[in-house]
Amino acid sequence: MALAELRELLGPTGLLTPDDDLSRYEQEWRGRYRSQALAVARPGSTRELSGLVKICGAHGVAMVPQGGNTGLVGGAVARGERRELIVSLERMRSIRRLDIDSASITVEAGCTLEHAAAAAREAGLRLPLALASGGSATIGGVLATNAGGNETIRFGNARAMVLGLEAVFADGRVWSGLSSLRKDNSGYNLAQLLAGSEGTLAIIAAATLALKPLPQQREVAWLAVASPAAALAVLRRARAALGETLTAFELMPALAMEFVLTHLDDARCPVDPEVGWHVLLDCESNVRGAWLREALLQALEAAMRAGEVSDAAIAENRQQAEGFWRLRESISDAQAVGGVSLKHDLSVPTAAIPKFISSTLGLLETLVPGVRPCVFGHVGDGNLHFNLTQPRSMSAEGFRALEPKINETVFAQVVQVGGSIAAEHGIGLLRREWLEALGDPVRVEMMRRIKQALDPRDVFNPGKVLPRDPGGSG
Ligand SMILES: Cc1cc2nc3c(=O)[nH]c(=O)nc-3n(C[C@H](O)[C@H](O)[C@H](O)COP(=O)(O)OP(=O)(O)OC[C@H]3O[C@@H](n4cnc5c(N)ncnc54)[C@H](O)[C@@H]3O)c2cc1C
Repeated sequence: MALAELRELLGPTGLLTPDDDLSRYEQEWRGRYRSQALAVARPGSTRELSGLVKICGAHGVAMVPQGGNTGLVGGAVARGERRELIVSLERMRSIRRLDIDSASITVEAGCTLEHAAAAAREAGLRLPLALASGGSATIGGVLATNAGGNETIRFGNARAMVLGLEAVFADGRVWSGLSSLRKDNSGYNLAQLLAGSEGTLAIIAAATLALKPLPQQREVAWLAVASPAAALAVLRRARAALGETLTAFELMPALAMEFVLTHLDDARCPVDPEVGWHVLLDCESNVRGAWLREALLQALEAAMRAGEVSDAAIAENRQQAEGFWRLRESISDAQAVGGVSLKHDLSVPTAAIPKFISSTLGLLETLVPGVRPCVFGHVGDGNLHFNLTQPRSMSAEGFRALEPKINETVFAQVVQVGGSIAAEHGIGLLRREWLEALGDPVRVEMMRRIKQALDPRDVFNPGKVLPRDPGGSG
């Protein structure tokens, strides 16, 4: 019996069964999926992880890798009734090595993003990935979802930081690929294949990540702009003036500020909250000096003269900068004050953003009169959180019932402009049918072949990412 063998391998603290409280592992963050796991395995080392994968393989038990369980597409939930084993990496959280000369850190998969970033900071280096979920999200989860953060415009997604991995494949064998080499063209790049694979190809046990210098100078500005097109004009200007110091460029509508100011008692918007759109701009340099502020001021003055920016505030200190970011980070939670929201994590080519927003909202207004769009996001990467709040005159149930039709409309527009239906959160369970329906058929077929080659018995996260296999268990 698999559970008895697992208990012997992992010891009493390494295996939790339904007699224990499993709710923390079974409860998905947004409460969208109900999960009932066979048990929760908590290996304490790569050796134990490998052993448990072998036991599960021998007994035909499917495994669901889980990190901080903060994913937003149902990738870390068990399906069926007490059929699948959740493999939590939470006990594998040590920092194995910090190498200043190669500017890299090697951590176990269950180490939180925040913990890894703090260790890098202590050594005078920076792990350049910032997520609001960073206190719980783990390095394994962040890599498996190829998370992107506020700083993607400058540093790229999680995969841009991966130098090497240690991972356990479906037959239980361990790949020891913890290299800190910046150059290694000796064949296929397995680490990059596993980044973004959402636990369907292997279980990541540890990772070596590239670090950057810590910033010495930072300027954060809040701008009022009339439209997404004006925001893009400012983005072009900021890129030219600030170069690679431009670290974040976030677009938010007035409705987002209305929600946030209702939600947070003590918050204040740096400009008139009712202006059409808001931009949060962050630039950082590791070269100290007043030149960064000078460059920012000149760019903003030129943008105001050109009529692209109607008002602007620059944070005078760190506390104010954090206050600006708090407004931005609160939008997702604050949307609840408006009722039900239907959320889409999209990306479209940056130049297409203004037209995409106006044409899609035009179609949605016809479909759902009175719908309240709260479209915001990392506009510098073309990543929009295309969120729609229920009309004041419509019931929550009535609005939810329109979700399939709304999704169809939004995703058709995304495909039309050459965008992606899953920008940073992944496919998981939530978007797998859409991947099948709208993804390039050759690409989906090649993905299936890769899955078949690495996990022929479908023991890792079955049914996630790839739509139901015509001949399989889905
Ligand atoms: C408040 C909040 C803010 C967020 N902000 C962002 C954001 O800005 N950008 C962004 O991209 N995402 C964001 N997310 C989504 C989420 O935080 C990220 O997806 C994060 O990367 C998930 O990490 P995790 O450890 O919680 O993974 P989990 O939720 O536990 O798992 C996510 C997926 O990865 C797989 N997985 C987990 N660990 C491993 C492993 N060791 N080996 C193989 N597969 C594994 C799981 O099977 C699952 O498919 C946010 C979520 C929340 C709740």
